[in-house]
Amino acid sequence: MPTINLRGAQKNYGANSANAVTDLDLDIGDGEFMCLLGPSGCGKTTTLRMIAGLENLSGGEIHIGDRMMDSVTHGVFVPPEKREMGLVFQSYALWPHLTIERNTDFGLRLRKVPKAEREARVDKVMRALDIEKYRDRYPSQLSGGQQQRVALARMLAVNPGVLLLDEPLSNLDARLRLEMRAELKRIHAEFKTTIVFVTHDQWEAMTLATTIAVMSEGTLQQMGTPDDIYERPANRFVAEFVGSPPINILDLMADKRSASAQAMGAFLSERYASLGDVGSVGLRPEALRIDEDASAVPATAFQLPATVTGILPTGGNWILELRSGDGTLFLTTHEAPEIAVGAAVAVWAKPKALHVFDRKGQRLDA
Ligand code: ATP
Repeated sequence: MPTINLRGAQKNYGANSANAVTDLDLDIGDGEFMCLLGPSGCGKTTTLRMIAGLENLSGGEIHIGDRMMDSVTHGVFVPPEKREMGLVFQSYALWPHLTIERNTDFGLRLRKVPKAEREARVDKVMRALDIEKYRDRYPSQLSGGQQQRVALARMLAVNPGVLLLDEPLSNLDARLRLEMRAELKRIHAEFKTTIVFVTHDQWEAMTLATTIAVMSEGTLQQMGTPDDIYERPANRFVAEFVGSPPINILDLMADKRSASAQAMGAFLSERYASLGDVGSVGLRPEALRIDEDASAVPATAFQLPATVTGILPTGGNWILELRSGDGTLFLTTHEAPEIAVGAAVAVWAKPKALHVFDRKGQRLDA
């Protein structure tokens, strides 16, 4: 299947409204599992609808393979039914008067696929999604999660080269969600379908995607593997959006005079020649360590004096709240902390754990 390319894609819903999507370049490779991730209103659904052809562009172009699908300047717009993509939205609509089997082969009948092939394909997807046993039931006799699986099966049966999914798991409880994520990964591996998946849930994106595109206010913030996004966030927005508990940020501009900002400033001046450019530093909670004996901290580490102000067990993990000067830091650990609230500690991190951002919030590398 061909790749999907968006070039300078733009969407404006009305003369007086802000752009829902601005100048978006996106390349979605064959067989990729691309998650569009970002907070509510950032333009994820609009992007998916533009790819599907349910919205036309206000600017820019969309190509699928070597075929132009949408371009204002070239006066081209290919309607959704000619783009050969499967769509599953949050509210999937099954036909209530048709059995699960008939729902599943609906698209194939519509396309006048011969009976033998139709039956073979329906059997295959029903097996893959484990819904064979519901063949003769009606949608109202199935749970929400089972219905969602039927909606997916119906899409897969027509063997679309591209599957577009908009928060398809949002109606499910935590356990089913997890099961369906595993299911989707299996489907992706088995059917080798290119998937574009919209979610505001960072865990969902991290567990499913081969590539994540993080969006904010209609613009692309970063595109990369889940590891890239987590380990090398391109800017503060990405760093703060991905990760739970969220990354600790030492804002060197906002609290210039605080002991922690000064300690950080002194530490960074050895590594960053143009310290003037540094605006903030991010430290992931799991990258922090504590020691009651400051002299035991490795000499190369960044360290701050702090007081333990809270210990929060989260079932097998612990979150420690630490106060350093005016700032609060959160640390996560898998080991039961042998320390009491009120203890004075050195909180430290290895230099490579520091995410350094300039005054505009863009990543700086030493
Ligand atoms: P959510 O996760 O809440 O669905 P999203 O990231 O998918 O959000 P979009 O639905 O793409 O975001 O919306 C992006 C922006 O475009 C928002 O400001 C939204 O209010 C606006 N918008 C979306 N659809 C329309 C529409 N049909 N008419 C006018 N404005 C719209």
